[in-house]
Amino acid sequence: MKVEYDVIIIGGGLVGAATALALKDAGLRIALVEAGAEPVLLQDESWDSRIYAISPGNVRFLTELGAWNRQDLTRVAPIEAMHIWSDGGARLEFSADEASVETLGTIVESRLMQQALWARVQMYPQQIDLYNAARCQHLIFSLEKATLSLEGTHGRDLTAKLIIGADGGNSWSRTQAGIGVNTHDYKQLGVVANFECVLPPRNIARQWFRRDGILAWLPLPGNRMSMVWSTDPVHAAELMALPADALCAKVAEAGGHVLGDLQLITPPAAFPLRLQNAETLVKPRFALVGDAGHLVHPMAGQGVNLGFHDAAKLAEVLRERGAQSDVGDYGLLRRYERARKLDIAAMQTMTTGLHALFGSDLPGAGWLRNTGMNLTNSQPWLKRRLMAHAMI
Ligand SMILES: Cc1cc2nc3c(=O)[nH]c(=O)nc-3n(C[C@H](O)[C@H](O)[C@H](O)COP(=O)(O)OP(=O)(O)OC[C@H]3O[C@@H](n4cnc5c(N)ncnc54)[C@H](O)[C@@H]3O)c2cc1C
Repeated sequence: MKVEYDVIIIGGGLVGAATALALKDAGLRIALVEAGAEPVLLQDESWDSRIYAISPGNVRFLTELGAWNRQDLTRVAPIEAMHIWSDGGARLEFSADEASVETLGTIVESRLMQQALWARVQMYPQQIDLYNAARCQHLIFSLEKATLSLEGTHGRDLTAKLIIGADGGNSWSRTQAGIGVNTHDYKQLGVVANFECVLPPRNIARQWFRRDGILAWLPLPGNRMSMVWSTDPVHAAELMALPADALCAKVAEAGGHVLGDLQLITPPAAFPLRLQNAETLVKPRFALVGDAGHLVHPMAGQGVNLGFHDAAKLAEVLRERGAQSDVGDYGLLRRYERARKLDIAAMQTMTTGLHALFGSDLPGAGWLRNTGMNLTNSQPWLKRRLMAHAMI
């Protein structure tokens, strides 16, 4: 059996689902093909250890998609200030007040955001067909169209003018399209866990550049916080193996006990960290969005934010295609790539530069780290520029 679409999006994670929603008014028939089962609505009180700091610009984007307000907003936390410490004691502070904005970002749980996006997608059956628990078998490109063969329960061929690869860092669709990647292994894992704390985080995001990695504490509602500790594999394995009490003591000590004693509320999980770039974001009849196109270090909390920017820009280019009716046209897709390259490269350069500077034992590196942070902290105009960039 064959089903014809204008666009097939492979991967229904946060970025793929947002792309589908952003295209709902573009006059296109869309298939959203996701390997995972449809997320079930959570009835429990547990907290997801995968959390994201969503920029104010992307909160607006998700609001426009109707997804932001579908979350349980009692479970999101605004970031009103950021406090950053270097290993030499220098301190850098950013605040929403300084930038004359309400928040610097908002912390959301991955699965709640995902459910909100999926709930919205399901409201547009005329425009978007969902294929959950889908198994992609082949993807074949011809001059006129691309054909995706699904196996198992969905066993059928889907055709479209354009395939959008939104299937994450190990993207299957990217490989099928013959696009390679340039990868740099940070030789670090991101260890994540959630804690209850004695003192409230007061909507402050905290980050420590330490000799053993980068430790971030992000505020959750109430007396809770979410940790990301980017550290080498041996240290990560030690942290993962610690009994809960010992992990809490270790994390509290690493953060100078600023939130008092900690109690583990979500067990730790670890994710490998790498910098990765697809050789190109587009080919005739193919475009990449989100982690499928680029991976960045989580220190700036910008991975999914870059992906949402991809989704918004690609949808804008396709909506404004004018006389060009073929959404898989290479010239049209190049417009998207040109618009996104600089933003992605700037974020990758910034995070990789900071990672190298704060991981360096070279003589003078410690001085440079501390002087750089103190200098930045004393320059309100520079801080405003840095904040403006992170808030898009
Ligand atoms: C430790 C850590 C902390 C992070 N913290 C932040 C943060 O604070 N802020 C931030 O912005 N970013 C953060 N990130 C980055 C963020 O997690 C990613 O950028 C984001 O999840 C990318 O979303 P995506 O939809 O592009 O890819 P994914 O989330 O990987 O989703 C891909 C989807 O495609 C599906 N899929 C895969 N293969 C197939 C296939 N063959 N067929 C069909 N479907 C398929 C998968 O099931 C999945 O649903 C962090 C990352 C790490 C590792």
